[in-house]
Amino acid sequence: MYDVTIIGAGVIGAFIARELSRYELNIVLLDKENDVSNGASKANSAIIHAGYDAKPGTNMARFNSLGNPMFDKICEELDVEFNRIGSFVIGFDDADMEAIRELYKRGVENNIEGLEIIDGNKVREMEPNLSDTIKGALYAPTCGILSPWELTIALAENAADNGVEILLNNEVQDIKKLESGYKIITNRVEIDTKYVISCAGVYADKINNMVSNEAFVITPRKGQYFVLDKSVGDFVNTVVFQCPSSVGKGILITPTIHGNLLLGPDAEDIEDKDDIATASENLEYIKEVARRSATAVPINKVITTYSGLRSEVSTGDFIIGEAKDAKGFINVAGIKSPGLSSSPAIAEHVVNIVKNITSGLKEKDNFNPRRRRVVRFHKLSDEEKAELIKKEPSFGRIICRCESVTEGEIVDIINRNAGATTVDGVKRRARPGTGRCQGGFCGPRVVEILARELNKDIDEIMKDSEASYILTGKTNKGKE
Ligand SMILES: Cc1cc2nc3c(=O)[nH]c(=O)nc-3n(C[C@H](O)[C@H](O)[C@H](O)COP(=O)(O)OP(=O)(O)OC[C@H]3O[C@@H](n4cnc5c(N)ncnc54)[C@H](O)[C@@H]3O)c2cc1C
Repeated sequence: MYDVTIIGAGVIGAFIARELSRYELNIVLLDKENDVSNGASKANSAIIHAGYDAKPGTNMARFNSLGNPMFDKICEELDVEFNRIGSFVIGFDDADMEAIRELYKRGVENNIEGLEIIDGNKVREMEPNLSDTIKGALYAPTCGILSPWELTIALAENAADNGVEILLNNEVQDIKKLESGYKIITNRVEIDTKYVISCAGVYADKINNMVSNEAFVITPRKGQYFVLDKSVGDFVNTVVFQCPSSVGKGILITPTIHGNLLLGPDAEDIEDKDDIATASENLEYIKEVARRSATAVPINKVITTYSGLRSEVSTGDFIIGEAKDAKGFINVAGIKSPGLSSSPAIAEHVVNIVKNITSGLKEKDNFNPRRRRVVRFHKLSDEEKAELIKKEPSFGRIICRCESVTEGEIVDIINRNAGATTVDGVKRRARPGTGRCQGGFCGPRVVEILARELNKDIDEIMKDSEASYILTGKTNKGKE
């Protein structure tokens, strides 16, 4: 019997798994997908919000303000790139400036440090590409950017290094209460466990309703994005938001941690919890709104688009705690934005809940908080590159020309705990395919490397989620 079963390997489930792996517990992390971080945690704005936005007194405000300062340490331990670049909420008229003053007040109540309201000229001094019509802005220096899927992957890897078992391709289909604990039934296995922690993103309502009568509803709220080429990655140097509305924080323009430019997201409530298609009408709207922030936003440099689904929950706030009518079943549900920013503090809080309901946890002697460093070949000096190639020649073979990713890096990220098994899994861990050609050149090479390292045939390698086969058969059968 497991002590703890965590359902959902997004940033929340992976963070909780990593924090619980400090203790003498038998833990399993389950996900229905074939990789970790395949839900909202791979498709969001990637912002570590300062914490002024959420209404004081809510879980969102509490965990965002506690979570933001925790990122420097966790990212250092896990070798995840993180940069506090600061953010603006810009205003164009008196009504916006009133909203900005309100955000400032909220920020002060939420204990956010360094907030300032500045005038339009100062904004343009700091961000010369922003519009002449900006009247003023709220500046928040503690806002940061990172790669949310890299963080999630790093957390899962570190959790696995510390003994957590990760079972992918396991969709929880039912949960039954036992005399003591629960039986979790997936499409592949049955698991007995003392405690369950549900971190199932947009499906967290469905999981809750398997064991609790205290129902809540999660509606997916889709947000779509443009990713622009690195040649325009420095169009802005801070995260630039417009004033938030009732459905979200509005369209932003931001550099990404890998040096691209990101525009989006819009907000649209939908029914299908798996629908992550992008649509030209929504993208047109994003273009128009982004142009209000910066007339010359270089939209001709788009290299790709994507969308993600926020968990819009009927209670309006993060639901974190043991279900009243299901002892030992803990919901971590409705984790919409600022869920990424709140994730370290949520994980710490959930560990405390587990400590309370188990009457204490015993720390391991050998917990290792650090992840084995990843090689970022393009960031090394010429001497470091030469040294590395001498030791391991595969670092001398460039596979992705756009991003200068070497074979050595790809082999390394496949052969780790929670390592890549799909082309997009490799892309999220080491970036081949994220550049201008979007994998046109390196895709087939990545397939070959995956097949070789995983000891599979090339036609078994998938692009991303289950059954997304790339090769379906030989075209020149007659010539064999
Ligand atoms: C458009 C958008 C923009 C956002 N921007 C930001 C931002 O800039 N900053 C910020 O702080 N937050 C942001 N967020 C919020 C942030 O992305 C989420 O709060 C966070 O990713 C939630 O993580 P999670 O682990 O709860 O969910 P997910 O990452 O969705 O993980 C849930 C996991 O559960 C698995 N699962 C579901 N059902 C089952 C089942 N039956 N069996 C097994 N596994 C199952 C899924 O496969 C998935 O992997 C944004 C969200 C969106 C969508």
